Amino acid sequence: MKDKILLLDIDHTILDLNRTRKFLIHKLKKLFKEDIPSIEKTTDFIINKVTKENKIFNPYMFINELAGKCSIKKNKIKNIVWTKERFKKSLYKDVKPFIKRIKGYLDIYIFSQGYIKYQKQKLAGLEGLINKKNILIFEDKKINIKRILNKFKNKKIYLIDDSPVIINFAKKVNNKIIAILMKRKNGKKYLKHKKNLADYIVKELKSAYKIIKPY
Ligand SMILES: [Mg+2]
Repeated sequence: MKDKILLLDIDHTILDLNRTRKFLIHKLKKLFKEDIPSIEKTTDFIINKVTKENKIFNPYMFINELAGKCSIKKNKIKNIVWTKERFKKSLYKDVKPFIKRIKGYLDIYIFSQGYIKYQKQKLAGLEGLINKKNILIFEDKKINIKRILNKFKNKKIYLIDDSPVIINFAKKVNNKIIAILMKRKNGKKYLKHKKNLADYIVKELKSAYKIIKPY
């Protein structure tokens, strides 16, 4: 146990969700051939619908909805949705080198929200690099921030997240944490916040390393 920890977000921070989407559509197109002419539109429509209904993306609902629109067996769609390859290929290139360089210096925790089993699947490319006990995933991250920050209150805490809402909330709970806002080139666009409480804003993990690195 080290005296410093890093809370690391998944979506749009270490995982390129544009790539996971493209990969999904590419594989579905191959699978469907002529069945659904506008598979891209249909996929996006269902993703938005099931995300809205559940507040998080529920992969099983996606599979059911899509299977309901075509003659393809659910299992075939399920295999594409859950394939580890899709997530391995969608890790941003700087993630593994960053984790390898930084992990001797602090304890890394994945701190993420979403459909829990699905979020865990997204870490397929990091097998062996992240301790399984250090994976903290919740359906709603915001309501768990306080408890998580309190759990590590005796340690120096770094947080890397692409959500200004999460960064601001965490800083309000504990102003001493070092909050690093990730702004990937192709990341999610958030509404502009009047106040951004992040200590640093970075575009890649290399810059985050320079902030955290041991002196
Ligand atoms: Mg995120």
